[in-house]
Amino acid sequence: MDSMTDSYDLVIRGTVLLEGAFRPAQVAIVGDSVVRISDAADEDLEGAEVRVLADDELLLPGIVDTHVHINEPGRTEWEGFATATRAAAAGGVTTLIDMPLNSIPPTISVAALEVKRAAAAEGSAVDVGFWGGAVPDSLGTLEQLWDAGVFGFKAFLSPSGVDEFPHLSREQLFQALEEIAGFGGLLIVHAEDPAVLDRSANDGGVNYPHFVESRPPEAELDAIRSVIDGVRATGARAHILHLSSAAALPMLAAARAEGLPITVETCPHYLSLDEEHIPDGATQYKCCPPIRDAANQDALWQGLLDGTIDFIVTDHSPSTAERKFAGDGDFQVAWGGIAGLQLGLPAVWTAARSRGIPLERVVGWMSTATAAFAGLDGKGAIVEGGRADVVVFAPEAPLHVDAAKLLHRNPVSAYDGKDLRGVVRSTYLAGRIVDPTSDAHPGRLLSRS
Ligand SMILES: [Zn+2]
Repeated sequence: MDSMTDSYDLVIRGTVLLEGAFRPAQVAIVGDSVVRISDAADEDLEGAEVRVLADDELLLPGIVDTHVHINEPGRTEWEGFATATRAAAAGGVTTLIDMPLNSIPPTISVAALEVKRAAAAEGSAVDVGFWGGAVPDSLGTLEQLWDAGVFGFKAFLSPSGVDEFPHLSREQLFQALEEIAGFGGLLIVHAEDPAVLDRSANDGGVNYPHFVESRPPEAELDAIRSVIDGVRATGARAHILHLSSAAALPMLAAARAEGLPITVETCPHYLSLDEEHIPDGATQYKCCPPIRDAANQDALWQGLLDGTIDFIVTDHSPSTAERKFAGDGDFQVAWGGIAGLQLGLPAVWTAARSRGIPLERVVGWMSTATAAFAGLDGKGAIVEGGRADVVVFAPEAPLHVDAAKLLHRNPVSAYDGKDLRGVVRSTYLAGRIVDPTSDAHPGRLLSRS
């Protein structure tokens, strides 16, 4: 029992996600940390501030999104640190890791990492870390960037969409894996095979299924097979980004069974949207690899439930509205990328809920597993001694999406007009409530520890 009253800065009382299950509890916070968790039935903990959750609210650990594209500097008009991190906070995301493209410079050298850090330090509302890039010209220098604190290296196996971030050939992929194995690093891979994409290329147009035909499952299968071969040959740790095609799941499960260190993620849009419901010309839904059919979506959920897919991240990758709608609905012309940072949690939860999958699992995939993947000790769960990054979430509250009201820079969303479930009522970062509409920037810069 505490001898002092008012010994805590903040006490939150209510239903809390603890060790994977919800129960009534009290969470006491001092400074940036959770220092004590006690049963709701115990004597009330006293704090300088006490928040009692409403009956429809739950306390979750902050979402950790390891796949976010913030395009500052260089393409800040697409997305910047201030806007992206405010959208993150509004969506319950307390930690994000930024991808090494589409900023200019891309994060492919220590000097470029310093440029990115300086940009982020000016105004991030949540904690931000960085991935480095493995491009043909940066091979041989990756360890320097690793030592500077990036969480790993991203590579493309097919054209990335921007000229300053070229893709690796199969031979260069093996070279990168060999190099990364040498210092115990991690390669994260956009896995679409360029030969399959070349032979599947079509004339585009406004028809969505026609676009999907230009990026078939075989492109993912062949590229993932290359990554698996490379991991087997080098012993390097690798991760498959944004898995869209469930046809690759047996191959990935077999690689795991073989003991290969390969992990895989998928995204909210693959789990909540499907080809059958994408209208002609609706290029807000364009991303690569593409959103596939409903049967594929069912199989992705199964992959999550059986553990073949490790976690869910948004792949928030916005552009200007002009680029997103370039080509008047022609899917080959419009920018490929979905801005989902603020809606990842409600979008996945709404889809999970309709399948009878509990919120505990969703949070496991979007916070606990992603924090563990990035090695972020003290994040991803509400525990004594952990970081006080917590979110007040009302899972049954309706959320009608109006793209114009989202906080990322350009008001385009694949979820515009949709009715979701789950409202983030408050986000606390390091024990302090974040106001996503203010200029305050309490976020820290994170380095791999
Ligand atoms: Zn991405």
